[in-house]
Amino acid sequence: MGEQSGGTQYLRRTPARRFVPSEADLGRWAHVEPLFRDLLERPVRSAEALEAWLVDASELAAALSEERSRRYVAMTQQTDDPDREAAYLQFVRDVQPRTEPLWFSVRRRYLNLRRRFPLPQDRYFVLDRDTHNAVELFREENVPLRVQETELEQRYQKVAGGWSVWFRGREYTVQQMARFLEEPDRATRQEAWEAVVRRRLEDKEVLEDLFDRLVALRHRMAQNAGFPDYRDYAFRALGRWDYTPEDCLAFHAAVERHVVPLLEALQERRRVQLGVDRLRPWDLEVDPLGQPPLRPFRDGQELARKALEVFRGVHPELGEQFRFLWDEGLLDLESRKGKAPGGYQATFDERRWPFLFMNAAGVASDVRTLVHESGHAFHTLAVRDEPLLSYRHAPTEFSEVASMGMEVLSLPHLDVFYPEEPDRRRARREFFEGVVRLLPWVATVDAFQHQLYAQPGHTRQERVQWWRGVFRRFRGKVDWSGYEEAEAYLWHRQLHLFLHPFYYIEYGVAQLGALQLWLRSREDYEEAVARYRAALRLGGSRPLRELFEAAGLRFGLGEDVVAPLARALAEELQALGSG
Ligand SMILES: [Zn+2]
Repeated sequence: MGEQSGGTQYLRRTPARRFVPSEADLGRWAHVEPLFRDLLERPVRSAEALEAWLVDASELAAALSEERSRRYVAMTQQTDDPDREAAYLQFVRDVQPRTEPLWFSVRRRYLNLRRRFPLPQDRYFVLDRDTHNAVELFREENVPLRVQETELEQRYQKVAGGWSVWFRGREYTVQQMARFLEEPDRATRQEAWEAVVRRRLEDKEVLEDLFDRLVALRHRMAQNAGFPDYRDYAFRALGRWDYTPEDCLAFHAAVERHVVPLLEALQERRRVQLGVDRLRPWDLEVDPLGQPPLRPFRDGQELARKALEVFRGVHPELGEQFRFLWDEGLLDLESRKGKAPGGYQATFDERRWPFLFMNAAGVASDVRTLVHESGHAFHTLAVRDEPLLSYRHAPTEFSEVASMGMEVLSLPHLDVFYPEEPDRRRARREFFEGVVRLLPWVATVDAFQHQLYAQPGHTRQERVQWWRGVFRRFRGKVDWSGYEEAEAYLWHRQLHLFLHPFYYIEYGVAQLGALQLWLRSREDYEEAVARYRAALRLGGSRPLRELFEAAGLRFGLGEDVVAPLARALAEELQALGSG
């Protein structure tokens, strides 16, 4: 261990607090408020003092963020402990909302101070731009509208969270029902699929009503902020400085032209393998050859041990970093009773450590999940030396390159999980097929929203027609006949449309980056890894386009980027025997 911990000693060191008192209880407003007062009232008389002030503000933001993350992690690790839930809720209800208006004042003060004291332009370009943007978009009259929006969003979560069905004598959540879509018996799949669809359609009117109100509300917020429609507003609010709505439309067109044909080829192959005359919506998840699922590991220990080998293969230092996470108890991988479902990477912003949470069950998708989330974790560790919290987080379009990029960089090292060549090929094929399925779906969700918010006065009838149009444009050759209503309201299940409008294209942008990284890594693996790591170290301190360039990737959404990647995907799938 001596050798090991020596190599990762730097990960244990965290800059000491110099502003937030070490004994401060960040769950108590009485301890938090004076720190904000200090930031808002402390005299700042020089550029040096302003930089120190910025670091102090960052320290407070990181400490508050870590408090929230720790409570969140503790709650999800044991959901049957009411004390943990209460501690988390206390923080998000009593502390966090009170910080928001104060952060706004802190930002405004920064802009005022910034005008008086010169700071290096290049270093503060992103911070200045984003702070300016946040202050500029703020409208007092949008505060109550935002509260209404949150309430509607919570109603959606309640409705969707209540989706459970009785199936063959047992009750399942719709997430649990997914496993029946992998059943070799076609009648079982159809029955399971229909049960889920029927359940969702029961809430059709409720969700249509919710959505009408969300669109109207969002349109008003955009107009209050001086924008013609919510799309333009959302692009600014999401900080999309490097691409425009037109670039997204170009992405849709390029995906339709170059990726949908690949999707159709995969579907046709699947249809033939399944031996059916038409591919139906319940035929998409089952293994078309009727093989049992891959079993790449048995338990959490084995998953971690094998993942460690993979990361060592990518780069020895990433191996050490993963070992560090394991030693420090920053991995919670195995499914167990009382643990919340799903997987995430949380950041303890003050310690500058990641935390990985997932529910491994021994299947191939668990390997992909761990590799993906570890990419986020390496990103978090790469930016530890950056004093400004906002620069320790990259925009999603690039932070997903860190995670999706780690998925492609791990591909040559997966033999530890799949020692047999046929399994390895199958895992690779499933991975690349996943990419071919993802891009058209991203285009579908994104294209739909462009239409919705550009014409906020639309009727429900028009909305359904638009959805049908975009869905059919990208869905490939799947036969939905007889299920027209299910098709028309399929989008009700896509949480982002209700909760995170316009937030989805990020996954497409990042996937294009990750695929470029894959191609680069085939040319010169070490060089590709080195550029990837160099870009991770920049965190969010540079504009998005520069982050891509630092990684050796072209930033773009159009045909010039999509077409060559689609060609490479087609060749790879061909080589894997699924073209
Ligand atoms: Zn991710």
